[in-house]
Amino acid sequence: MRNIYDLTLKELGEYFVSIGLKPFRAIQVYEWLYRKHVRSFDEMTNIKKELINKLKTDFELKLFEVVDHQKSVDGTEKFLFRLSDGNLIESVLMRHYYGTSICVTSQVGCNMGCAFCASGMKKKLRNLTTGEMVLQLESVYESIKEKISHIVVMGIGEPFDNYDNVINFLKVVNEPHGLEIGARHISISTCGLVPKIYDYAKENLQSNLAISLHAPNQEIRNLIMPVNQAYPLNELVKAIEDYIKMTNRRVTIEYILLDGINDTLKCANELADLLHGLNVYINLIPYNEVKEKPFKRSTKENMRKFYDQLKKRSMNVTLRLEQGHDIDAACGQLRSKHMNK
Ligand code: SAH
Repeated sequence: MRNIYDLTLKELGEYFVSIGLKPFRAIQVYEWLYRKHVRSFDEMTNIKKELINKLKTDFELKLFEVVDHQKSVDGTEKFLFRLSDGNLIESVLMRHYYGTSICVTSQVGCNMGCAFCASGMKKKLRNLTTGEMVLQLESVYESIKEKISHIVVMGIGEPFDNYDNVINFLKVVNEPHGLEIGARHISISTCGLVPKIYDYAKENLQSNLAISLHAPNQEIRNLIMPVNQAYPLNELVKAIEDYIKMTNRRVTIEYILLDGINDTLKCANELADLLHGLNVYINLIPYNEVKEKPFKRSTKENMRKFYDQLKKRSMNVTLRLEQGHDIDAACGQLRSKHMNK
């Protein structure tokens, strides 16, 4: 039995054609699923009983089981879901002045092994299906009953290591007959799988790309991100440059500030040299400390100096305010806590 949330509108239309019906049926079903958020086929009242029964035998329509749900004073909420095979995944909901965004998990565990990250402590068990990514939105919606306006694919996992399912996920959530989340409201974050950056550029989507750079030179990046051995910094920066040329879109550069590792003024200058002239936007992120890891968050003063230096060098930069610090909202922390129980 297939998960109904796995299918793009086009695929669902093909299914209806395959059983001898008109493809517009897919639009009806999409509207029930994503506009009215029904939780069973029986609620699709403009569809004949016979067809409902057929759909019930061919598809599963079921939300995730919520294992844990934490709420922060700032409005951030964190969900721990159980997948049908028993694996646990997290989704985080964040409230901003411009809307409500959800941070979606793309894999069960992660193989990228970034030295500072809690997610990488649990190796990848498998990719999430498209439907399991869509279900994160629907399961969160079921709890909050508010429109989710933005998506960041920045939860556990490396989205470009699960490329096809992630691209299909973008198609499902972007669908005008469905959730209709604008592509410009969707961001995908990668640690830098260079060939996939080119593939993503060629998709010709309007969604955003964020790169977890975290280092201004080869030496520091090798120290904290093993992916840099496969795709060295110069190739990554070249890919970013090409991506900007191909898509005419600005790229977000994520840079976590780690005390004494990558937060010196020398690093700020190197970063400015590295990215000079590129249409990028640098997002400085305070590190969420992870118990099992030796890294510390930069001091407020050093973060401020780093930011000021980039400003002085005319870089486009923000120092991101963290959310959910009073709950286990740092990547992989909630899942990791439950798995260690
Ligand atoms: N694999 C993708 C997306 C998931 S990680 C990527 O690497 O971009 C999302 C972001 O959170 C990345 O920038 C990652 O480096 C960062 N991150 C991981 N652990 C963190 C922590 N403890 N504190 C702050 N940011 C963290």
